[in-house]
Amino acid sequence: MSQQHQDLIDRDRKVTFHASSHLRDFAHGDAPGRVITGGQGITIRDKDGREFIDGFAGLYCVNIGYGRTEVAEAIYQQALELSYYHTYVGHSNEPQIALSEKIIDLAGPGMSKVYYGLGGSDANETQLKIVRYYNNVRGLPRKKKVISRLRGYHGSGLATGSLTGLKAFHDQFDLPFEGILHTEAPYYYHRAAEQEGMTEREFSAHCAQKLEEMILAEGPETVAAFIGEPVLGTGGIVPPPEGYWAAIQAVLAKYDVLLIADEVVCGFGRIGADFGSHHYAIQPDLITVAKGLTSAYQPLSGVIVGDRVWQVLEQGTGQYGPIGHGWTYSGHALGCAAALANLEIIEREKLTENARDTGAYLQRAMADAFGDHPIVGDVRGVGMLAALEFSADPEKRAHFDPALKVGPRIAAAALDENLIARAMPQGDILGFAPPLIATRDQVDEIVARARRAVDRVTDALVREGAL
Ligand code: PMP
Repeated sequence: MSQQHQDLIDRDRKVTFHASSHLRDFAHGDAPGRVITGGQGITIRDKDGREFIDGFAGLYCVNIGYGRTEVAEAIYQQALELSYYHTYVGHSNEPQIALSEKIIDLAGPGMSKVYYGLGGSDANETQLKIVRYYNNVRGLPRKKKVISRLRGYHGSGLATGSLTGLKAFHDQFDLPFEGILHTEAPYYYHRAAEQEGMTEREFSAHCAQKLEEMILAEGPETVAAFIGEPVLGTGGIVPPPEGYWAAIQAVLAKYDVLLIADEVVCGFGRIGADFGSHHYAIQPDLITVAKGLTSAYQPLSGVIVGDRVWQVLEQGTGQYGPIGHGWTYSGHALGCAAALANLEIIEREKLTENARDTGAYLQRAMADAFGDHPIVGDVRGVGMLAALEFSADPEKRAHFDPALKVGPRIAAAALDENLIARAMPQGDILGFAPPLIATRDQVDEIVARARRAVDRVTDALVREGAL
């Protein structure tokens, strides 16, 4: 590493702390750092000019790839015209209006209004407030509990971190909050091992039954909403088993429980449809979007409110007056301008179709490269989302000893191959979510580098006697 790069990292260690890092190790130089200085297409580069294929599109967000001058230009022009004005009490800006029209159009029938935030966490915070307001207006003050899923990811605030169903986001902060519950994850690969012989459909029915049991145990009059990602993301990149969403929606309808689709990862093309909800025939009452909305050229998120909920929210005016909710940066003009330019690129370059077609190619290439690999237990994904789950004994679906840190070691080996793939936080899982512009050749390169990384760690595990 160059002296310049090292100096930057040393300055950083003194003054910044980083998400998901070992705080002491980074501050004292015992954990590595890296300064990213540029990006083009599906590639980023660091201060030393070393280039990496970004097989995870940042954090599954840079859908149109890096370095798109068209988006930069749109942000620049908007900044010259109007950089910001708040959107409280009826104030608006032109990009916000055009963007809301576009989002409602893409989301499809039944969707009514959009409210903006800056990231997925604050958007889900808004969802939780909408759900409470909704049932207060309806005169159902006890109907407030929200059910999420084990392994769901919905943010890392106090309330949204509570929705998240991963232990690493709870224990350090005394979460989850009361009134937020977690039901079974739709994780067929894990459960099929324990409950041998269960088909995917049977497992979906089992998940729906678990949900129903939870609603009945809590009392349906206390349960307000269910939140889920169409495809489990950070919890392991797990597409739902067959029939899952139909079975879940039947239960929710029976007990008057709202459905919030967290489309922060799936929205705007990632799995080959405008929304994951379209792909899986989900009819949500509320939708959360972020990431792919701007491809991260600006921070922007949104809450899409369906008609059924909106009609009740409107009635709240008589009772409460103005809604007591708002962020300074709601509907930020630069974010909305970036989003419009981004969505225009997605449409013009048919990136959603590419996510479907090149995505199918990615799934086949992964299955070919890893289907029979001695330490790969599961190869799964949909569109431009894919995962490898490692196993000490794929036949038995046996987990590796967590102390071996197989997932992080493989992610590190991939980095040695100049490929960024993500070790998912729970379990030995390597995740892939390349920008939606990726070509077949680029997919081949991603898979080839991943294969070399997995082979290298496999050899090391053999040498260590761990296999
Ligand atoms: N929901 C989902 C499905 C996510 O994947 C994420 C982020 N990975 C969030 C919400 C939270 O978004 P943010 O990190 O922008 O707050």
